[in-house]
Amino acid sequence: MRYIELVKTYTQLEKEPGKLKKVEILSELFSKTPEEVLEKVVTLSMGRVFPAYSDKKTGVATQMMIKIISKTTGLSEKDVVNKLKNLGDLGIVAEKCMEAKRQASLFTRNLTVDDVVTNVEKLSDLVGKGSQEKKIGLISNLLSSSKPEEAKYLIKTVIETFRIGVAEGIVRDAIAKSFGVNPTLVENAWFLRPNYGEIAVVAKKGGNEALERIEMEPGKPIVVMLGEKEPSIEEAIDKYEDAGAEWKFDGVRLQIHKKDGKIWLFTRRLENVTGQFPEIAEYAKSLNAKSCIIEGECIATDKEGNPLPFQKLSRRVQRKYDIKEMTRKVPVRVYLFDIVYLNSKPLMGEIFSKRREKLEKVVKPIPKKFEIVEQLRTKDLKKVREFYKKSLESKQEGLMIKNMAAKYQPGRRVGSWIKIKPVLEPLDLVITGAEWGKGKRSKWLSSVELSCRDADSGEFLECGKLGTGLTDEQFGDLTRKLKKLIVKEDGVNVKVKPEIVVEVGYEEIQKSPKYGSGFALRFPRLLRFRESDKKAVDADTLERVESIFKQQFSDV
Ligand code: AMP
Repeated sequence: MRYIELVKTYTQLEKEPGKLKKVEILSELFSKTPEEVLEKVVTLSMGRVFPAYSDKKTGVATQMMIKIISKTTGLSEKDVVNKLKNLGDLGIVAEKCMEAKRQASLFTRNLTVDDVVTNVEKLSDLVGKGSQEKKIGLISNLLSSSKPEEAKYLIKTVIETFRIGVAEGIVRDAIAKSFGVNPTLVENAWFLRPNYGEIAVVAKKGGNEALERIEMEPGKPIVVMLGEKEPSIEEAIDKYEDAGAEWKFDGVRLQIHKKDGKIWLFTRRLENVTGQFPEIAEYAKSLNAKSCIIEGECIATDKEGNPLPFQKLSRRVQRKYDIKEMTRKVPVRVYLFDIVYLNSKPLMGEIFSKRREKLEKVVKPIPKKFEIVEQLRTKDLKKVREFYKKSLESKQEGLMIKNMAAKYQPGRRVGSWIKIKPVLEPLDLVITGAEWGKGKRSKWLSSVELSCRDADSGEFLECGKLGTGLTDEQFGDLTRKLKKLIVKEDGVNVKVKPEIVVEVGYEEIQKSPKYGSGFALRFPRLLRFRESDKKAVDADTLERVESIFKQQFSDV
C-alpha cells in the first residue's frame, strides 16, 4: 500500500472538525487497507508507530530532525531553524523544503507504508556509538523519496508530535464501521488489549465472535477499573451490602504482570515502567504464580518506609537513567489491592472478596516494601471515619470504598469503587504570566501562570500553571486578552499585568519551593473566567491557600 494513500487521509482528517465525518474518512481507509498492513495503518493513523504501551521510542528529537532535513534538502541547518521559527512546525518545514527541492529534481520513487514502518521501527533499536548517523541515514532515505505532503506527516510521525484529532473513540468507531462489528465489543477488546492495530485485524478476520474471544495477556497492559466520587462516607457505605474500605494512597497505580519468571510493570496510562522500578520487579518475582496480573499503588517513602508526597515519586517515573541512584534516593513501597489474572485464567468475572482471597495466596509480603493493602470490612460508620482520618493524617488522599461483591470491569467507572476525598473549594486566581506554545500552539499563549494575592504586600505570588482543559477557542481568546497586558518578554516566557481573574479547580494543594507563594496546585483546571465580576484585588489570598492546604489533613 502506498504511503500517499495514508497521507491523503491525514490531510482530509486534519481539515475535518466533525467526529462522524472523521469516522467515515478513517473507515474508508481501513476498508481498503490490505490485511497484511492493516495493523500498521491503524497504528499510524493514530500518529504512532508503536502501540501506546510499547516502551519503544524513535528517539529522534527536533535537533536531529533539523540535521536530517538539512542533509536531504541541501539547505543549511540555519535556514531550517529559521523556517521553523516562522512556521512553528517541523512537519510543515519539511513539506516546504521538499517542495523547493522538487522543483530542482523531479524524481521520486513511490513510498509504501512498509517502507516507512520498516525504517521507523528500526530507529528504536539503534543505541550507542554511531546510532545517530544510522538514524539520520534511515530517515533521510525515506525523506528523499517523499513527496512534499508525505514529508510533512513522515516527520511528525518520527518526532512523535503527531496530532490530527483522531481520538481513540474515533478509531474504535471506524473499526466497527469498516468491518461491520459492534463498537462496544471493539471497546471491550481494547480495555483488555489496548492496541487498535491488533484489534482491527481480529475484527476483519473474525468479526464479533473473534472480538469477544480477545483476552488479557501478561506482558500487555490492561485499561484498569476506576472509582467514582461520592460526597460522604455515609452514602458510600450505604451503597454496598458488603463494603471494604482501603486507604487511597497518593502514588502511581501499577499493574504488575508476571509470566514464566518475567516481570512487567505498567502505569494506568499504559506506560511500561519496568526499567524505572527494578526493585519492584525483583519483589514481584516472589509472587506465588506461574502467571498473574496484580494491581497496586506505588508510593515514595523515606528511609524508614513512611509515605512521602507524590512529587518525589513522579521523579522516579520520569527518570530513565541513573536508576540505581534513584532507587537509593527515593525508596518506594507498593500496596497491592487486586488480582485480575492468575495461572492463565482471567479473574474479572469473580467477585472482589474472592479475588482478594486469591491475592492473599499469591503475595508473599515483604514488610514496608511489597504488601497487600489493609482492608476494613465493615459498615460501622464510626470505624470507617476513624480510618479516613488516619489516612489523611498520614498525608494520603482519603479512602476507596469497594463493593466486595462486584466483578472487575476494566476501563470503566462503574460504581463498584467509591473514592472519598476532602472536597476542596475552587480558588479565584490572577493570571500573571504565560508561555508561547509549541507546534500547533505556537501562536497561543499557554501554560498560564496563576497567582494568589499577598494581602499584606499586595503582591501576586505564583501558585500553579494552567496548561490544559481549555478549548482552542478559549486559548485564542485568552491570547488576545493577554497580549494587551504583556509587560515583559523573555524568550517564550511573558509576564502580564495582573488583571484577569479565573476560577480554578484542582486536586490538591502541595508545598512547593518552586513557586513564590510556597504552594502549588496539583492538576489545576479552568472552571470559568471571572473578569466581569472580579478584579485582581478580589483574588484569593495566600492565607486562604494556606488554610485550604491545612484543611486537607484535618477534614473528616
Ligand atoms: P482517581 O485517580 O482520583 O480517579 O482515583 C483512582 C486512583 O486511586 C487509582 O487509579 C489508583 O491509582 C489510586 N488508588 C490509591 N489507593 C487505591 C486503592 N486502595 N485501591 C484502588 N485504587 C487506589
